[in-house]
Amino acid sequence: MTIHFPFQNSYSALPDAFFARVAPTPVAAPRLIKLNRPLAVQLGLDPDLLETPEGAEILAGKTLPAGADPIAMAYAGHQFGQFVPQLGDGRAVLLGEVIDRNGVRRDIQLKGSGPTPFSRRGDGRAALGPVLREYIVSEAMFALGIPTTRSLAAVVTGEHVIRETALPGAVLTRVAASHIRVGTFQYFAVRRDTDAIRQLADHVIARHYPELLGTERPYHALLAGVVARQAELVARWLLVGFIHGVMNTDNSSISGETIDYGPCAFMDAYDPAQVFSSIDETGRYAYANQPRIALWNLTRLAECLLPLFGEEQDKAIEQAQEILGAFPDIFSKAYQAGLRKKVGLFTERDGDEALIQDLLDAMAKNTADFTLTFRKLGDAAGDPAADDARAEFMDPAAFDDWAKRWRERIAAEPQTAAERQTAMNAVNPVFIPRNHRVEAVIQAAVNNDDYAPFEELVKVLAKPYEDQPDYAAYADPPLPDQRVLQTFCGT
Ligand code: AMP
Ligand code: MG
Repeated sequence: MTIHFPFQNSYSALPDAFFARVAPTPVAAPRLIKLNRPLAVQLGLDPDLLETPEGAEILAGKTLPAGADPIAMAYAGHQFGQFVPQLGDGRAVLLGEVIDRNGVRRDIQLKGSGPTPFSRRGDGRAALGPVLREYIVSEAMFALGIPTTRSLAAVVTGEHVIRETALPGAVLTRVAASHIRVGTFQYFAVRRDTDAIRQLADHVIARHYPELLGTERPYHALLAGVVARQAELVARWLLVGFIHGVMNTDNSSISGETIDYGPCAFMDAYDPAQVFSSIDETGRYAYANQPRIALWNLTRLAECLLPLFGEEQDKAIEQAQEILGAFPDIFSKAYQAGLRKKVGLFTERDGDEALIQDLLDAMAKNTADFTLTFRKLGDAAGDPAADDARAEFMDPAAFDDWAKRWRERIAAEPQTAAERQTAMNAVNPVFIPRNHRVEAVIQAAVNNDDYAPFEELVKVLAKPYEDQPDYAAYADPPLPDQRVLQTFCGT
């Protein structure tokens, strides 16, 4: 008996040019490392069956679940600004789509499942470290309330992959609203295949923007929709200190989810110029550059959609520019509203933006921890005698000066101290996937086959806004010798 997945596929019904039919390549000895049981249930899958040896074989791509129609999706992309006309799923296979318990269509994809026609010189495989990293960070993002792809499972393959050294191989089961990227549109745009662009746009509207069906200018509205979702997404990233690390157009999702957790990282001390990725030599994808890069990527999407905007090219360009022109405002509204919540403001007043910017500037100057400063500010709101936040500042007086102004500002609002602290705690996490923790978990798994640290970290990060006294140490920033300065791609 093979385990049945309730697939209802739509992407594989698109024309042949959209993908290559290819099955995962069987591996030697699959072993389940982690199953996300609540997510399995949400997808209509049986978690108990997935935890059997046969379940592990499916999650490793060794056997196919009944009803699977595996494909590798075609896409192109700008990587660090350089256009590559053909990328595609080189180490991933889409098993199929299911409709989840909320009625949402979700892709189920195996990442690290072996070579495909898009592999170029790659082996189609993934190493255990990056698989665990993606599992941890994507699930942490979900718990933080940020749109993201999810992780259903991680398995080791029983085979080695050769990187700089031989490493244990692994497969991640990734779940996404879809895997359609800006780069998917670019794939057809560079081939001047306007019919395919229209088919893809229609598919995307029906799937991700159904409210636009039947509107007068659906393709304009689609661009506007993606612009809005990306602007809001990047604002959410900045508000938790997340750095994606490799915001290429092929890693930019049309549905507005965070996708492709490679060299991503959360910053510890606040630094707008922070970069972790070893390959981001110019800081293109630095923390504070992310809004600008999102708009750059969206501009590439707009270029792809121009042929759908009408016969007159000048007019189409003008319309696209107008739609893109909304980005800074949407971003800024979302970002500023989020910041106001982070410092506990319920109302909006002149001077708020400057007040908050002064805090951020002081944090940067004083290497204050981004996450802990805001969390402790919540404590300070709850109890005027609580002054832990000042210890985050190299020069605590810098905080004191600012806090005086802040106290005057919050005193003008009617909320009680407890109300304010509760509201702040709901947006300022205690626990983020700190780099040094993620690295330690990976080392234990790779070097010692010890997954207890992974389990514990995943458990703590599932409730990022709750004080968990037993796990308080997970909130701590790294000691100087624990600091991780560089992260690496998943390849
Ligand atoms: P990424 O850096 O994960 O966004 O991947 C960029 C491109 O490289 C995509 O087309 C991937 O499918 C491809 N790729 C990454 N790693 C591998 C690999 N080990 N084997 C084959 N293709 C890969
Ligand atoms: Mg990618």
